[in-house]
Amino acid sequence: MAGVYISYPFCAQKCSYCNFASGVFPKELEPVYQQRLLDEIRTTQWMFTPETLYLGGGTPSLWSLPDLEAVLKMVPGAPWREATMEAAPGSLTAERVSAWQQLGINRVSLGVQSFVEREIRRSGRKHTAAIVASDLALLRQHGIDSINLDLISGLAEQTRESWEESLDHVLSLEVPHVSVYILEVDEDSRLGAEVLLNGKRYGARDIPSEDQQADFYERAVERLAKSGIERYEISNFARPGAESLHNLKYWKLEPYLGFGADAHSFDGQWRWQNVEEVKDYAFGAPPPARTLADVENEKYWVGLRLSEGVLAGNRFSDQISKLVGDGLLERQGDRIRLTSRGVLVSNEVFQEFLE
Ligand code: SF4
Repeated sequence: MAGVYISYPFCAQKCSYCNFASGVFPKELEPVYQQRLLDEIRTTQWMFTPETLYLGGGTPSLWSLPDLEAVLKMVPGAPWREATMEAAPGSLTAERVSAWQQLGINRVSLGVQSFVEREIRRSGRKHTAAIVASDLALLRQHGIDSINLDLISGLAEQTRESWEESLDHVLSLEVPHVSVYILEVDEDSRLGAEVLLNGKRYGARDIPSEDQQADFYERAVERLAKSGIERYEISNFARPGAESLHNLKYWKLEPYLGFGADAHSFDGQWRWQNVEEVKDYAFGAPPPARTLADVENEKYWVGLRLSEGVLAGNRFSDQISKLVGDGLLERQGDRIRLTSRGVLVSNEVFQEFLE
């Protein structure tokens, strides 16, 4: 079954660690973007009826309700089996949550990242642990119980104690799904670029070491598992049955269509990606080029992200034997999967499968 991803790239601030094509843009850009998005969806030949919908970006929880409704009305398949809204803590109101629920949104992913105020402020965010708790209460009052909380290991000033504090909050809120990301240091985020330049802005000198970040991640794996929230993908953890149906499509190589700036699509055979710059997208960049997917190959570096691993075929048998010998992959019957150590160096493992 297929999914739909729609990007709303507008945010109230640009967070220091964020490497997405999102941010604060001139107000006048938004109606142009909205029109372009409607045009893109309207002119799509739907070769399937989507069963999942994912609103990301960006901060789609800030989307004006009439504009959001206009977009969702054009997507076939409502009510979707799973329809997720990514939300910034503090952006929820009773009016918004009620409207989302009526539009078919039945899952919300809150980009919390940390419950510790000094880490939140250093990232450029404004919420508090109390705001997150009241957002959750509001969602539950409106019947939205399928909730994800995002955490990042590696924020400026994060310590073992503060990480435990964030995990305490996550566990006390009793959500069915948690995502734990390790800070990505690259030129696409202000913090990442500052770290690469050995600068000190955005707390670049106060981020935990890579070893500490890995320790924090492993501690999250351990504490979440003890509470029945098991890792099912490198960064994703859920109670049984609460896995994200939409995100599973990416790792299981099922088709999805993406709309909006930087959105990716895969129709089961071809892949394409919309232009990354929001302004270029809004003002009508030419259609993106398509590349033929090599699904047999991709399953190794996409599907291996899943805890259940993938069926090992004859391809890459030398690389697989070597990685098993190195303790980075393990065999389970005719499947292979990452070991705990392999998860921590997954990008290096995936390199072995790139042709
Ligand atoms: S982390 Fe989220 S809220 Fe912050 S800039 Fe990136 S997309 Fe926007």
